[in-house]
Amino acid sequence: MRAIQFSEIGGPEVLRLVDLPEPSPGPGEVRIRHSMIGVNFIDTYHRSGLYPLPLPSGLGLEGVGLVDAIGEGVTRFAPGDRAAYCTGPIGAYREAHCVPQERALHVPAGISDEIAAAGLLKGMTARYLLHKTFPVKPGDFIVLYAAAGGVGQICAQWAAHLGAVVIGIVSNPQKAALAKSLGCAFALIQGAEDIPARVREISGGEGAAVVYDSVGRDTFAQSLDCLAPLGMLVSFGNASGPVPDFSPNLLSQKGSLYLTRPTLFHYTRTPALLQETADALFAVLASGAVRIAPPTRYALADAGQAHRDLESRAITGSVVLVP
Ligand code: NDP
Repeated sequence: MRAIQFSEIGGPEVLRLVDLPEPSPGPGEVRIRHSMIGVNFIDTYHRSGLYPLPLPSGLGLEGVGLVDAIGEGVTRFAPGDRAAYCTGPIGAYREAHCVPQERALHVPAGISDEIAAAGLLKGMTARYLLHKTFPVKPGDFIVLYAAAGGVGQICAQWAAHLGAVVIGIVSNPQKAALAKSLGCAFALIQGAEDIPARVREISGGEGAAVVYDSVGRDTFAQSLDCLAPLGMLVSFGNASGPVPDFSPNLLSQKGSLYLTRPTLFHYTRTPALLQETADALFAVLASGAVRIAPPTRYALADAGQAHRDLESRAITGSVVLVP
């Protein structure tokens, strides 16, 4: 079985295509033969060592395909069923992967394998961010970084559907046009304008109710300056590196602000929470309020190139690997 592995942390060049024995499902596990594999920015944190893993390691948390073997005690799936997962176990960048049945999902027939791999992890993230971490209300001014990216495109549409005034932040005019077409009322270009000043102007001087910041180090201070008093900074990613240490007094000085650093894994920690989150995503996709664009495809062997392109900010929307 072909798989991507790495035995040292580093850049995309550490990813190697290797041949591994076929995995056998253990008790309670299903083996999914992948048709599509989701690529997520978190995979680059695992590869670079920002989120350390025991080495050598596989990579990737998300895949979809047909179940072709089941372990003892599996009741939720039978061979031939379609199944998808997006919270690991680590090692999705391979032809087939064994997943505990309670972490696997049945995907509705109206969602293709390609769209499931492009949108499950990212769409479930959008759901908990907008409904659980800070429940967005009609008329809320919200700031959303990387609005033309994988998570960003879904969040922009979903937040606009909830009635928020979405202020997207992107890195160039092409991404700004795309963000606006997806529901951002405003799309500001990082580096080209004074973002906190523009956010205050747009929100009538008050500032944003919430900032969803996936960029991390480079934008943390700016994000605090965009918020209204008692606003919430949702720092949910590190695309530019991790946020440096700071004193909680800063939150007081900037307006008695709230800060949270959430992760999907806690919001989907039980089978019931995982299913509830997935069902909410499936419902918003079925309604047509959110559409997931066809992802950029790479062959499994080209996983390193997929990482290079994702980290260079060259891509809009989602990325998948085809085994
Ligand atoms: P994206 O498709 O959004 O790609 C990342 C985007 O971040 C880039 O396109 C770029 O957009 C922006 N960016 C800003 N600064 C940098 C930088 N220095 N280097 C690279 N990119 C930069 O990826 P995903 O949709 O997979 O993930 C988006 C973010 O959400 C990531 O930070 C990820 O870690 C986080 N995430 C967090 C989860 C959680 O539960 N906490 C779950 C899922 C994702 P632009 O060019 O417009 O600036």
